[in-house]
Amino acid sequence: MIIQQRPEPLELIISCFLVERLVLPENHITSNEKGYEGELRSDKWLENLTDNWLVLHGLLLENHGSRFQIDTLIIAHEKIYILDVKNYEGDYYLEDDKWFTKTNSNLKNPLHQLIRCETLLRKLLLELGYNYPIETYLIFNNPEFHLYTTTTNPSIVFPAQLNRFLKILNTHPLKLNSKHLKLANQLASLHIVESPYTRLPPYTFEQIKKGLLCPDCRTVFLEVGNGIFICGHCGCRESVDAALMRNVKEYRMLFPDRKITTKHIFEWCGYVLSKKTIRRILLMHYRLIGHGVSSHYI
Ligand SMILES: [Zn+2]
Repeated sequence: MIIQQRPEPLELIISCFLVERLVLPENHITSNEKGYEGELRSDKWLENLTDNWLVLHGLLLENHGSRFQIDTLIIAHEKIYILDVKNYEGDYYLEDDKWFTKTNSNLKNPLHQLIRCETLLRKLLLELGYNYPIETYLIFNNPEFHLYTTTTNPSIVFPAQLNRFLKILNTHPLKLNSKHLKLANQLASLHIVESPYTRLPPYTFEQIKKGLLCPDCRTVFLEVGNGIFICGHCGCRESVDAALMRNVKEYRMLFPDRKITTKHIFEWCGYVLSKKTIRRILLMHYRLIGHGVSSHYI
């Protein structure tokens, strides 16, 4: 049973908007995006677990000021599993304790991160009054990944071992009880929700590229006819109402402190819709408060 779904990666979504709207360079998001892709693939894979498990995805916890992130935590009858998902692609090498590729000779050892996570979780669990053994796994789930190594490490699960790993988990016969559920709910309640804005570089409304972006190819919608936008680049069609509301949502995510006014949205849309149309659509979804220049929608 899933106790906590993976939280939406708001920082990644906003970063993508900032790349498309020319505030950030394209290479800003690749590693984040790849990581999230791998996590989603892992979540899909874990849907094949039986119900004898409590699963929490994307936990961010803290123990005495040290924060630690757990990609997936699984509570079983007599132990807890930590899965760290890696979407590495290509050839990697592991010699002694060093991880490297042909282009990067000094990679962070992902096993060290996992040990830190395990140590901090163990401390937290003891403080909560639980003393379960913890098993940790580094899950490599990109089929294009290969690790050249002369040693075996039971903590590492390779793409070709994923099915067998799941089979072993699923042979678990013991049912969980209310104590397990209590722990799962306690951990979910301790999950820290970080503001997505703290790690983003500063940006302003003025510097950002305006315009209604196509939902598919993300180029700017230029023409509207009969209440429908047709993308000049990919041919995607979207009603004016849907396109505007989708782009207002984007505006709100990028500028949570900025008021929604007809004037701002008129500019945000790149002047492609009339103020009258914008007002009509906004009034259908928001409440207008105030008068004259101070009026805005909430
Ligand atoms: Zn398009």
